[in-house]
Amino acid sequence: MNSARSKEARTLGKTTKCRGAERAKRSGRNRALCYAFFMTAKILDGLKIRDEIFAELKVQVTRMSATGVRPGLAAVLVGEDPASQLYVKSKVAACEQLGMASWLHTPAANSTTEYMLQLVDDLNRDDNVDGILVQLPLPKQVDSKRVLEAVHPAKDVDGFHPVSMGMLVSNRPGLVACTPAGCMEILRRNGIAIEGANAVVLGRSDIVGKPMALLLLHANATVTVCHSKSQNLPEIIRRADILVAAIGRVGFVQADWIKPGAAVIDVGTNRVTDASEAEKLLRNFPARLDKFRTKGSVLIGDVHPDAVNTAGALTPVPGGVGPMTITMLMSNTVKAAKLRRASKEAA
Ligand code: NAP
Repeated sequence: MNSARSKEARTLGKTTKCRGAERAKRSGRNRALCYAFFMTAKILDGLKIRDEIFAELKVQVTRMSATGVRPGLAAVLVGEDPASQLYVKSKVAACEQLGMASWLHTPAANSTTEYMLQLVDDLNRDDNVDGILVQLPLPKQVDSKRVLEAVHPAKDVDGFHPVSMGMLVSNRPGLVACTPAGCMEILRRNGIAIEGANAVVLGRSDIVGKPMALLLLHANATVTVCHSKSQNLPEIIRRADILVAAIGRVGFVQADWIKPGAAVIDVGTNRVTDASEAEKLLRNFPARLDKFRTKGSVLIGDVHPDAVNTAGALTPVPGGVGPMTITMLMSNTVKAAKLRRASKEAA
């Protein structure tokens, strides 16, 4: 944590000290424990960072368009899954908001792998297209791996292609998977010190955990990657100055596993609809519980909501990592336009 942040943490510690000390006196509990328990984390607001990055991208897109290069994203949405339709719609809307070109291709749900490969090939050849986004999941009959690997690495704005992964492993400039790239923006733009920090990444998926670990490693953190077979998770997590949780398990990381003052990036987005589960998770958040009762569902991360009392900084769910994924997709499209067109000029 940087000095400004530690100062803030100290201030928070101070303001909570009286409450903590009073309660400690009354309950006879250890005073130091109360200091940690009543710390309230700084909320790492993903919406605010999205707005910052969008403003920066808008300037870049305007400049590029003035020179005749308008970055463009082609989205491919197979079938009519409502959640996928919503995601793709918001991606196309983001392009419009930034003045970028966008194309939406909507092959039928019964499309074959061959049809998809032909479509991707056409988009690879289209010089106006800088980024290709194939919305997942694809229907069962389509070989997703073949389709994703058919996307030209220069247009791989999702950063899923093995070439993009290879570039990341060797720390060369390229297109990085959007969610972990967004987590790095959250850390950097909040001045959270990464160099020398103990970082724990919970989850090792190709799209979040692995690229996240590599990004932290390249930023000179000491990185531990955990997965479903890892032993003594609470013990490992307690050593983390930075914790990134990406496992898809609702409220899994308990508040007392977190080192007091740590920065916590909660990637998990789990929809809870069971009332007793919601009541357990949100027992200390009556306003959120009221909302759940009205709506019938609530989004909870992989970190227990009570972690706000131990962490020094924490991404909320929703409103933390979520908005960053689409933001970094836009950022990758602009980056792809610059890299591809610069390499064409150099050739
Ligand atoms: P995934 O592909 O299912 O991978 C989950 C990872 O978590 C695996 O590496 C798995 O270990 C590990 N894991 C599962 N249970 C565990 C446990 N009990 N203890 C320790 N590790 C455990 O998931 P993903 O795609 O990386 O996504 C993870 C979460 O992030 C999900 O909630 C997803 O919805 C969310 N997400 C959010 C965004 C966003 O924009 N906010 C974007 C992407 C993902 P093994 O490898 O051993 O199986």
